[in-house]
Amino acid sequence: MLKKIKQNTSRAWLFFLDLIFPIECLGCGFEGQWICEKCFKEIKLKPKQYCLHCKKENSWGEFCPPCRIIYSLNGVWIAALYDEPLVSRAIKSLKYHFTGGIAADLSQLLILFVDKMLEQAKVAKPGLAAGLERRIFEQAKNMPAAVLNYKENLVIPVPLSRKRLRWRGFNQAELLARKVVENYGLKLDNKNLIRVKHKKPQAKLNEIQRLVNVKGCFNWQGGNLNKKNIILIDDVVTTGATLNECAKVLKDHGAGEIWGLVAAKG
Ligand SMILES: [Zn+2]
Ligand SMILES: [Zn+2]
Repeated sequence: MLKKIKQNTSRAWLFFLDLIFPIECLGCGFEGQWICEKCFKEIKLKPKQYCLHCKKENSWGEFCPPCRIIYSLNGVWIAALYDEPLVSRAIKSLKYHFTGGIAADLSQLLILFVDKMLEQAKVAKPGLAAGLERRIFEQAKNMPAAVLNYKENLVIPVPLSRKRLRWRGFNQAELLARKVVENYGLKLDNKNLIRVKHKKPQAKLNEIQRLVNVKGCFNWQGGNLNKKNIILIDDVVTTGATLNECAKVLKDHGAGEIWGLVAAKG
């Protein structure tokens, strides 16, 4: 019932509802947190990464060579599966609930995922790989520089247009990015990549049409990126068209590797 009301009301009214109704766990209703510790522990991370285009599994979520041709993005790291009900609920709530509080919990999911990836990277360090079994050797061979030198990445949240930002009051991608940056001591740039226009709704378009549809939506206002590796953060990825367009603009300005990091695939 409350959910129904919240879906159909204005922002001012929602703010009021948030004041009088307590924060409850989206999983079990436990008061005080959006995702309580117990429910958080039950969320399963995505067990294998894959090429977002052809869905072939691989170690680091990179686009495989034949698919790479149409993308500027190197690959996408997807923390959890969208069919984890709690994850999809949290992402929807983060967007439409007008509360940034959920971002803190969702960002923990990103952090848990990155910790695991860095752990895997330690095992697969190229220098150690010589005597290792084939699977780990393959992992080491393809390890992205953005993983190997994780602490040197620049983090950029996928921006909203000014109009959308005014309406929502916050950029959910930026809230997630801030927490990730804080946790690993990375550098954040939330100013120089801007969204100059909003694309038409993407829902009915196929993958190639989506890539075309977002063309020209972003501008980079900063200087040359001097081969800097970049992590683009967003709450959710669908075909990767938006992340890819950001990546294209950034590579036009000299960026090195560009990886998407998202909570789930929608
Ligand atoms: Zn719970
Ligand atoms: Zn592929």
